[in-house]
Amino acid sequence: MRDFAAEMADRKAAGLYRSRRLISGPQRPALCADGQPVLAFCSNDYLGLASHPALTAAAADSLADVGLGGASSHLICGHHQAHHELEQRLATFTGRSSALFFSTGYMANMGVISALAGKEDTIFSDALNHASIIDGCRLSRATVRTYPHRDVDALAGMLADTPGHKLVVTDGIFSMDGDMAPLRELARLCHRHDALLIVDDAHGFGCAGPQGRGSVASLGLSEAEVPLVIGTFGKAFGTSGAFVAGPALLTDYLVQKARTYIYTTAMPPALARASCVSLELVEREQYRREHLQALVSHFRSSMVDLGYTLMPSETPIQPVMVGDAHAALALSKALEEQGLLVTAIRPPTVPQGASRLRVTFSAAHTEADLDRLLAGFAACVHLIRPVVDSLPATAHLTH
Ligand SMILES: *Cc1c(COP(=O)(O)O)cnc(C)c1O
Repeated sequence: MRDFAAEMADRKAAGLYRSRRLISGPQRPALCADGQPVLAFCSNDYLGLASHPALTAAAADSLADVGLGGASSHLICGHHQAHHELEQRLATFTGRSSALFFSTGYMANMGVISALAGKEDTIFSDALNHASIIDGCRLSRATVRTYPHRDVDALAGMLADTPGHKLVVTDGIFSMDGDMAPLRELARLCHRHDALLIVDDAHGFGCAGPQGRGSVASLGLSEAEVPLVIGTFGKAFGTSGAFVAGPALLTDYLVQKARTYIYTTAMPPALARASCVSLELVEREQYRREHLQALVSHFRSSMVDLGYTLMPSETPIQPVMVGDAHAALALSKALEEQGLLVTAIRPPTVPQGASRLRVTFSAAHTEADLDRLLAGFAACVHLIRPVVDSLPATAHLTH
C-alpha cells in the first residue's frame, strides 16, 4: 500500500497541509470560527445575502409547501415547478433563450463540458481556469490545449491550426486573481473559428454588469456572441445550486447528455424558491454593488500606500501577493491573531511561488470593518517586504 502517512508529513513540511475551521452560527462577516469571534474577509458571499431574512423566510415557507427532499433525478420525477420557474427567471436574467439548473457549479462544469466535447474534439482552456473546468475537460476525453492566461493572440494561433469541433472555455472573473477574461475578443475569435464559447461566470453574476447580470452582460455580448454562460447560486446569490444558460437546442441537448444532470437527485425545491427570491434582490438592490465597489477602491488605494502588492482586479476578489507558501501562512496567522480571518491560498490552487492571501469583500462589510482589516495589514507589513521581490514574473504583478 502507498505510504499515505509519509505524503501527509511531506505536505505539512512544505506548508501545504490544509485544515478546516469549524464555523457555528450564520454566515456573515462576524463569524464564530473554532469558538473564537473573527471578522472574515474570505467568503464568496459577495452581496451579503447568505443569511438574508427574505431568503431564509422563502426557504422556510417553501418547506411547508413543497417538503424537503428532491426525491429523484429531474428525468424521473424530480423536476419540480420550483426548478422550472427558476430556470425561466434565469433565462430572462441572463438574456439567453433558456436555462438549465444544476445542483452545484462544479457539477455544471463537469456535465456541460463533457457533454459538449468528446474524443474527436479539442477544448481550449485558460491556464487559470477553475478546477471544475479542468475536471470537466478531463472527463470529456477531448484533446485539451491550455492557453496562457488571457492570451488571445496565443489562442488565435492554436485555433487556426486545429481542425474539427472546437470548444473554448474560460472563467468570466478568475476565482483566484479576480481579473476578467477578454470576453469581447474571445467571442470574436470563436466566431471566426467556429468554436463554441463557454463562460463560467461564477464570480461575475450578482456583482458585475447591469443589475448584476454578469461579466458577459457588462460588455453587452449577446447569445450569438457568447452562446453559453454558467453561474452558481453559492456565491453572490447566497443560496446553493448552479445553472447554464443559452440556446434551447443546447440546454435540451444537455438534458439528454449531461451526466451530472441526469444521474443525480434534484436539489430540494425549497432551495430553488429561495434562489428565485435572491435573484429578485440581486436585480433590484443596486446599492449592494455600489457599496462593494466603494470598499474595493478604498482597500486598493490604502494597501498600495502600505506597500503591499495587489493584482489588477476591480472585483471583490483582491489577492495580496506573498509568494512563498510558508510566508502566506505566517501572514494569515498574524492577521488571525488580530481577529481577522483571511485565508492563505497556496499551490496547487495557484502556481508555485504565487501563494497569496485572497481577500474577498462582501456588501455586508462596513467601512469600520475595512478599517480594522487595514489596521491589521498595517501591523504586518514587516512580514511581507522581504518576499515580494522573489515572486515569479508569471504572477502578473501590478500595484
Ligand atoms: C466556485 C466556482 C465553481 C463551483 O461552483 P459551486 O456551486 O460552488 O460548486 C465553478 N467555477 C468557478 C469559477 C468557481 O469559482
